[in-house]
Amino acid sequence: MITGKNYIGENLSSNSSVTFQTFNPKLNIENDIIFYEASDLEIQKSVELAFQAFKKYKLVSSAEKSKFLNQIADELQLISNDIVNIYCSETGLTEARCLAELTRTINQLRSFSELLINGDFQEVSIDTSIPDRVPVPKPDLRKMLMPIGPVAVFGASNFPLAYSTAGGDTASALAAGCPVILKSHPMHAGTGELVSAAIIRAVKTTNMPNGVFSNLNSKGIEVGEKLVNNPGVKAVGFTGSLRGGRAIYDLASRRDNPIPVFAEMGSVNPVLIFPEKLHKEYAELAEKFAKSITIGSGQFCTNPGIIISFESEIFDLFIKKLVEEIEKLSPSCMLHPNIYNAYNNGIENIKKNKHISVLTKEKSESKANFPKHVISTVTAKNFIQDKKLQDEIFGPCSLIVKCLDQNEMLQVINAMEGQLTGTILADINENFLSDKIINTLELKVGRIIFNGVPTGVEVCPSMTHGGPYPASTDSRFSAVGTNSIKRWLRPVSFQDFPQNLLPNELKNDNPLMINRKINGVTSKNEI
Ligand code: NAP
Repeated sequence: MITGKNYIGENLSSNSSVTFQTFNPKLNIENDIIFYEASDLEIQKSVELAFQAFKKYKLVSSAEKSKFLNQIADELQLISNDIVNIYCSETGLTEARCLAELTRTINQLRSFSELLINGDFQEVSIDTSIPDRVPVPKPDLRKMLMPIGPVAVFGASNFPLAYSTAGGDTASALAAGCPVILKSHPMHAGTGELVSAAIIRAVKTTNMPNGVFSNLNSKGIEVGEKLVNNPGVKAVGFTGSLRGGRAIYDLASRRDNPIPVFAEMGSVNPVLIFPEKLHKEYAELAEKFAKSITIGSGQFCTNPGIIISFESEIFDLFIKKLVEEIEKLSPSCMLHPNIYNAYNNGIENIKKNKHISVLTKEKSESKANFPKHVISTVTAKNFIQDKKLQDEIFGPCSLIVKCLDQNEMLQVINAMEGQLTGTILADINENFLSDKIINTLELKVGRIIFNGVPTGVEVCPSMTHGGPYPASTDSRFSAVGTNSIKRWLRPVSFQDFPQNLLPNELKNDNPLMINRKINGVTSKNEI
């Protein structure tokens, strides 16, 4: 049952008079359940509990933490039917999409559970002493990665499961040894509460400390702001818009004691198409990209928002086919009226721009929250001059940029801000694809795709989901894959410590049997 209350550690709590409801975008009506926003007292309590829990949780063995994460996955599996019902009523997304996202969420939790079994993520490094070194003796130094402390996590509206309550940020932070205080997304607060209840059951079943997880409801941005400003919070994981991510990043930097904010934000994911490829496959490519632009109503951070190629007859054929294909596809429901309205405003701005031609037909009839698919074009020269054209329009649209030649294509890439992805569609013997183009694109993105679509993010250690600002606030890290754990860890060195006072990972006899770099050589050896 969904109560509408906050989870302050294991306890359900509702002492604020501020309430809100979620929204069913398909029916265009509010859902019935009343949610209680977290009060200042509840925010403070959740952080205090997290801080107390941190002292115990960081001492819990990796094997026990691994069981905890697996238990969360099991609990989610058990309530999959309940999740589907509430998820669909709060998002307008389909049951198939919900199940796919749930599977991904469960697999993410299990992958972190597995990661904890081998201790490699702690990057243990030991440099033994050389007491007789001249002119000064070398001390014994032992280093490992340790959890940073309680983490505040903000989920995104477009991934109610995989980037929200028990999503990648939460799973990686809990795996790292950091308690999580989740700022629930107001658009899917019911899904958030169900998932939170599953996490709390796993906390109890596996005897984790109370406060290792809390879930705070919010109607507006204030709860999140207070959380980020709370001195007990030591890092932030954010998935959402550039505006939101940047505001939180600035807030965290202004604290007396600034903390890192790992914000994964919007992106327009440029796609470069080359002539040989177009000559061979323009029709197939158009079909493929019509689907990629409209999948999930375009509500993906990896949506191909900008398509770039050279002015030519074959490119015009591709564009014509893309417009035909995208017009054939029926609009699908967006997540929420706010997102639908923001999309329509973005499209209105495009229509008002005298340098842009909208190619898809105007349709008079439209159903609330079901957006029109839009393809428009602009010359490279005008694109380069107007930075605003790089702003993400979150929804099923794409802007086509026409370049005169290779040099202009390079100028377009150079003018682009940081992106999550960049895609190259080319024949392997493509004349116009130079190293210079690849190297310039590589500087701008976190992932380069060759002959594929950017939508669809494989969850594995080699995935980079992040990119130079504004795609993310720290391009050195990924929000997807087990390496995302690194965001919540910091290195600590122990100098000349007695064996009995060292963490097990650093003891001479290697009781955990983990890989360690000893004087530069990796092994499981004892010292
Ligand atoms: P959003 O509007 O930024 O909201 C995300 C969360 O941040 C919400 O909980 C929101 O709270 C909070 N928030 C927003 N502005 C804030 C502020 N100034 N101060 C404090 N909290 C604030 O984003 P969304 O609509 O949920 O998600 C869509 C966006 O996410 C798109 O731009 C998409 O590209 C991006 N996204 C990125 C990735 C990635 O991995 N890079 C993945 C998925 C989505 P309220 O709702 O209460 O305002």
